Amino acid sequence: MKAEIISMTQDRLDMEGIKRAGEILMRGGLVAFPTETVYGLGGNALDPRASKKIYAAKGRPSDNPLIVHIADMESLDRIVTEIPDQARVLAETFWPGPLTMIFPRAECVPMETTGGLDSVAVRFPSDRIAQELIRAAGGYVAAPSANTSGRPSPTLAAHVAEDLGDGIDMIIDGGPVGIGLESTIVDFTGKIPTVLRPGYISLEMLQEILGEVAMDRGLLITDKNIRPKAPGMKYRHYAPKAELTVVEGEEAEVVMAIRKLAEEEGDEVGIIATAETREQYPKGIVKCIGSRAHEETIAQHLYEVLREFDECRVTRIYSEAFYTPKMGQAIMNRLLKAAGHKIIKAQEVLKHDSIGM
Ligand code: AMP
Ligand code: MG
Repeated sequence: MKAEIISMTQDRLDMEGIKRAGEILMRGGLVAFPTETVYGLGGNALDPRASKKIYAAKGRPSDNPLIVHIADMESLDRIVTEIPDQARVLAETFWPGPLTMIFPRAECVPMETTGGLDSVAVRFPSDRIAQELIRAAGGYVAAPSANTSGRPSPTLAAHVAEDLGDGIDMIIDGGPVGIGLESTIVDFTGKIPTVLRPGYISLEMLQEILGEVAMDRGLLITDKNIRPKAPGMKYRHYAPKAELTVVEGEEAEVVMAIRKLAEEEGDEVGIIATAETREQYPKGIVKCIGSRAHEETIAQHLYEVLREFDECRVTRIYSEAFYTPKMGQAIMNRLLKAAGHKIIKAQEVLKHDSIGM
């Protein structure tokens, strides 16, 4: 099945196209659509057959639950059994927006959608195309990122077509997404609200409103025995074909270290640089991810750059580390996952004449 592709923008919605897309979803079909975070692969969240189709299309392990997308606050009451006051406050502050919250699941949400869990993840996106589609589909759209499982999440409709163009019914092309990284996930099923996945809405922003907020231990510790609570966070994700290594340290030292490593590697090396450093790498295929002065541009382009390297003949990629002030936590979470947690210190590289890696 070749997906039909329709195009529109936030300001010029094609309501006729959205109506057709909604009908596809109500019949149990799959439609990929833009959100402010990444492109989602939508199916009717209350239809177990649709959820099964999503897992099959993505090649996603069936224990990795889907996020249910809604387009108004009232819809939340129908799919969860309890909404803590703190969650209501977060909803008032950040919804519609890039925040997913986890609640106890109501009976009407099938286990196929929640990956067998008794909790359900819910998000109210701010993208207008997404909102209208959810309404047209009856109010509840399960939508994981619209990529083949394990590949970088899609930030352009072309990425969706590349991965899923032959296996779904429709792709709505709404242009490049705004944020470029998946939503922040906050779990409300324990004693203390806990971040299971960092995103645009940072731990600090949440703490400012709620006071105590924890970070899932599985995210902080690279210990194989401590599993992240979000099942999806345990999988190696976003992985480019080439081996990716992150280099951390002072900016000037990082540049020198990557230059040295590229020198040793020869030509088939890729480098992820920034607008501030790109001119300083004479060797290798250098891609500029964005500017440190505008950290949101780094988030926006991370997945696109990883995908672009899959088209290049590089066997090894070195990336600068991006511990930027606001989105650094989310960017580094994704970059380190892509690198299989391979990170080295610039100083260590510069200390040795040549390093065995
Ligand atoms: P994606 O849909 O690709 O953005 O991934 C959704 C993420 O949310 C995955 O990491 C899931 O494991 C996580 N998730 C969804 N529902 C739940 C839930 N009920 N409990 C914990 N994590 C969840
Ligand atoms: Mg995903």
